[in-house]
Amino acid sequence: MRAVDLIRQKRDGNALDPDHIRWLIDAYTRGEVGDDQMAAFAMAVYFQGMNDLELSGLVQSMLDSGDVMDLSSISGTKVDKHSTGGVGDKISICLAPLVAACGVPVPMISGRGLGHTGGTLDKLGAIPGFTTDQTNQRFIELLKSTNMALIGQTSTLAPADKKLYALRDVTATVESIPMISASIMSKKLAEGIDGLVLDVKVGSGAFMKTEAKARKLAETMIGIGHRMGRQVVAVLTNMSQVLGEAVGNANETWEAVEILLGKGPKDVKELTLVLGAEMLVLGKAAQTIEEGREKMQGAIDDGSGFKKLQEITEAQGGDPSSLEKRELLPTAQNRTEVAFAQEGYISEIQVDNVGRAGMILGAGRARSQDIIDPGVGLQIKVRHGDKVTPGQLLAQIDYNDDRNLEQAKTMLQEAFVLSAEKPQSTPLIIDRITQE
Ligand code: URA
Repeated sequence: MRAVDLIRQKRDGNALDPDHIRWLIDAYTRGEVGDDQMAAFAMAVYFQGMNDLELSGLVQSMLDSGDVMDLSSISGTKVDKHSTGGVGDKISICLAPLVAACGVPVPMISGRGLGHTGGTLDKLGAIPGFTTDQTNQRFIELLKSTNMALIGQTSTLAPADKKLYALRDVTATVESIPMISASIMSKKLAEGIDGLVLDVKVGSGAFMKTEAKARKLAETMIGIGHRMGRQVVAVLTNMSQVLGEAVGNANETWEAVEILLGKGPKDVKELTLVLGAEMLVLGKAAQTIEEGREKMQGAIDDGSGFKKLQEITEAQGGDPSSLEKRELLPTAQNRTEVAFAQEGYISEIQVDNVGRAGMILGAGRARSQDIIDPGVGLQIKVRHGDKVTPGQLLAQIDYNDDRNLEQAKTMLQEAFVLSAEKPQSTPLIIDRITQE
């Protein structure tokens, strides 16, 4: 078999045999097919899509590229959450400890930033000493001792996705329903979970810009989970504005800590409660969504969620006291502000460009080898629908390197589109999709 023939076949819109997909994924994982040919294949899939049979073959071969974790020694129904990616999405950092504190084991494997979106691993990396690089064995020990684990993909867990994820990031091939579905579901199935809550983002800051595409992505992933005997619920959520105020790494981690302390932005808290309630129902710690929500609120009020984050931080080598004082997390040396030049209502936010503005200042990676500066970040001070006037503060920027500062400021100003009329408000939670 030759990779070039499979690339050509896909490029020309013909369906591939699942065995041929398996051959390609195996050869890529072993390094016998290089990034050049895999990038061409990813681009062909981006334009031509995949039918159900091809997609099942892709998911299965990515799953089989590594180990599948056996969590049978851990009692309880193991439930994880995964977001399809957004800007300001720090939810995992407050959600996982709250759910674990409510009694549901959370084996969470997260990713690095992808494209303009941030990644939970990079945000956790802002906590001094916190190590997300753990072995499969340690992952199980963490689950047994603290009821949760926050780790990155290990080299033996869906390694095909690890390579492909990094490749898609730098070849503009992320925004593809079959590839996002296979990427997320192969690594989530490899974790050994029983249930999964998907936060499928919709809007300018998401990979799926329209509700119809996000719905299709959600249904595709639910279908994969169902065929593999897992319970999957998807919540479609609004990513046409930044989630919360903070965009960066240390500042986002801090915002998540604030939620655990009963403070923080309303939308971050609401999404945490919505997704957490779903996880508690899947994990059989609550019978109804309402009961799940109450238990989540209880774990905020009694401080058990915050204590759980401190516990896992210590268990993963981090300094738990850094979660008590903002100045113990990384900060940047300089601060500046961006203001509005005109008057009007904020009618549209190009959230992907807000993410890119942070990225060019060092909060994200433009190339996979770039090093993130954890202290760099934006604080966005306005919301969709707000009336603004000239000189009003749009964002605060914390930075170390001023090389791209002017460009970042311009990008931020241009990302906020003003109109004379007050726009219709958009809900945070758009829909809930289940197998039925
Ligand atoms: N998250 C993933 O894990 N993979 C993707 O392809 C997109 C978002």
